[in-house]
Amino acid sequence: MIDAGNINMKRRSSNRNRKYSNDYLFYEILVKIFTTLNVMDRSLVGMVCKSWNLASRDPSLWKKLDLTTLCTRCFYVRLIPINVWIDEYPSNKMTQFLKYASSLGGGNVSTIILNYYVYLRDEHLISLAERTPNVKRLVLPVSGNITKNGIESAMRSWRGLESITITSIVNDIAIDIFVAIGKYSLNILRLKFTCYFDLDQAEALVKYTPNLKELSIRNILVNMRGLCLVLNSLKHLEVVNICHSLIMDNLEGGFEIYDPIDHILKYVDVSCLKKLIICEKNSCLRCKNGRKKNVYDYRTSLPYRHLEDIWREDEISSLAH
Ligand SMILES: [Zn+2]
Repeated sequence: MIDAGNINMKRRSSNRNRKYSNDYLFYEILVKIFTTLNVMDRSLVGMVCKSWNLASRDPSLWKKLDLTTLCTRCFYVRLIPINVWIDEYPSNKMTQFLKYASSLGGGNVSTIILNYYVYLRDEHLISLAERTPNVKRLVLPVSGNITKNGIESAMRSWRGLESITITSIVNDIAIDIFVAIGKYSLNILRLKFTCYFDLDQAEALVKYTPNLKELSIRNILVNMRGLCLVLNSLKHLEVVNICHSLIMDNLEGGFEIYDPIDHILKYVDVSCLKKLIICEKNSCLRCKNGRKKNVYDYRTSLPYRHLEDIWREDEISSLAH
């Protein structure tokens, strides 16, 4: 005897399994497609429908919050290089976007790379930090207005931070960053500077980042005494990149410029380093890319493109992006 109720139950169960199976496949395919989108588009697709929203929140999509592809036109920004985000209206729109994008990624975000041309303010940085507590690597933009309180609030949220790319945005608060690092006992292992590396910063490194393993101070002005202090004091340092840097020191009103290797070896013992990276026979990234003398890149409309490349590239792969 046929049990109609049993058959209907089996059909319903089969349909339900098929539905779940299709949903599962659909979800996986959506996530795969979303991996090809930049952060702007990835944030927007979540507004299409429930299933797209669910897929757009998949943890695998948000390990790296890469904001380098942000388009200035999306925020009605005046095209003034370096200070492009200075207007109030785009700044507010930027805050809204950062809040939304970082809330999608939430605790899954381990790397934040800000757009080189973003004009970063406290509200931007704090909005990001509050929503992304598990960040390990932070790449700062080149300009903005970050205060001592702003950087301290951010560091309080980013207790697991291990790696920072420090730019000229910190000119007025360079030491405050390290004080905040010390205050919240951050274990910083990797640092890259794209601004002048002076003696004060070297002393701050020795005091607040004793476990530093990798340091890049390539393509910048470097204070000789600061460099010697770091090399002599940080016992866990493994790799230091001074490729194309100008090593110099103040000498009673004048400057003395040092040839990196000849002079460094006189003052410090670099035998404990695994690698000291210098420009060797034009094989470094800057030489290979032919930008040794090109200060202005006429191929693009952005006059600071070569600086953006210096910010992005590095012979130490963990400090490149
Ligand atoms: Zn070179």
